[in-house]
Amino acid sequence: MMVGAPGLYTYGAMRIGGIIRDAGLRPQITRNISQLHGDQVFLSLFSTLHLLDPAVKEVVKRIQQKGGECIIGGPVSSGPEMVLGELHPDLVVCGEGEEAVRCIINGVDPDDCPNCAYQADDKIIKTEPKRTQDLSFPLPLIPDDIGAQDIRGAQTYIETHRGCFGRCGFCQVPRVFGRRIRSRELDEILKEVRAFQKKGVRRLALIGGTGSLYRSKEGEVNSDAFISLLEGISSIMGSKNVSCPDIRADCLTDEVLEAVRAHTIGWIFFGIESGSEKMLGLMQKGIPIDKVRDAIEQCRQYGVKPAGSFIIGYPGEEEEDFQATKDLMEELALDDVFISIAEPIPTTPLAEVVCSQNTNDDLVSIPHTGEYAGLHLSEAEARAFDLMLHADMCRPVPRMTQDVTYNAYLEEARKQGADIRNVTRLIRIYYSA
Ligand code: SF4
Repeated sequence: MMVGAPGLYTYGAMRIGGIIRDAGLRPQITRNISQLHGDQVFLSLFSTLHLLDPAVKEVVKRIQQKGGECIIGGPVSSGPEMVLGELHPDLVVCGEGEEAVRCIINGVDPDDCPNCAYQADDKIIKTEPKRTQDLSFPLPLIPDDIGAQDIRGAQTYIETHRGCFGRCGFCQVPRVFGRRIRSRELDEILKEVRAFQKKGVRRLALIGGTGSLYRSKEGEVNSDAFISLLEGISSIMGSKNVSCPDIRADCLTDEVLEAVRAHTIGWIFFGIESGSEKMLGLMQKGIPIDKVRDAIEQCRQYGVKPAGSFIIGYPGEEEEDFQATKDLMEELALDDVFISIAEPIPTTPLAEVVCSQNTNDDLVSIPHTGEYAGLHLSEAEARAFDLMLHADMCRPVPRMTQDVTYNAYLEEARKQGADIRNVTRLIRIYYSA
């Protein structure tokens, strides 16, 4: 029995491996999916683009031709129709998969496994959706070479809780995990951290956009629980080897900031998304720009470095909205930024809008005719590229963009544009009315 994910030992794949091992079986885990083989193979896919990847298609086909069963889970499972239509696996495990995996390895009929989808003749059968109530799991299956992995400087992410009370229209977290926070027990998290460290993990990061919501109720930050969490993890890993990158700007307290300063690498990435209140409304972000300003100011008072992510090309973004984002970026002078073109993910409000949108209104398809016209970019690509260049000038110490960086930004903007066009095409095929 094997578990794998393309190019990465994902936390989800390691979690599934742990459940299989705990059932008395001897699973193997790989990030080289061409090695996957066997009677039952669990493949974790974390990007919609995997559905279009010939290497992934080939692996699924080969496993089945040799008589094996291929089960696909991971973030792509938000769109089981797309997964079944593009890859033809035997089963898709949708969303929270722990119970489904236990059922599958015990030979339970798919109809009686929760959170599953499969193709029967020309129909897609979906079984009862169920959220895991007890977040108590066996230790993940940690590969011996986990220390060689690098995910934005960390060897792995770990999960501390599920859910987010936010409603951001581009995000699948509240749709998959719900809006109520369910948290893991601290001693189990720390046991897992020790296990990762023993296997060679030098730095780890906490998963998700809601770091400070650990053990929170109804959107109220539980500062004491968060402090104990970071204290506990940093006492094992060392404070310079822990990051809790993503925290909502409206989920900060002085105690949270002090804990981030004392027990982590001292950075927070806020999902700022846009400098236009109109766009924040369309995105259902729920965090006004003044709140972001306050959060950044508060970070600086505590010696925590603030960074931010921005989304470009969201439906409805006009030139003045983009300009407002540039202005805000300049005003905030963030220590780092991350810029991405809006990606429609099945089940999200963004995907619904994109599916009902005409291609002529789609910023990722409309040719750019302004300042960068000679570069043959779409409007969304041109804005992403422009914002990347702008970001260098807006740092606390402005950075001159060299030729090599200019070309890297251009390539990154083009790649994002091409990827989002492919994803958009796919979701329109499966989810347009
Ligand atoms: S705050 Fe973050 S995790 Fe929550 S819905 Fe918004 S983007 Fe998703």
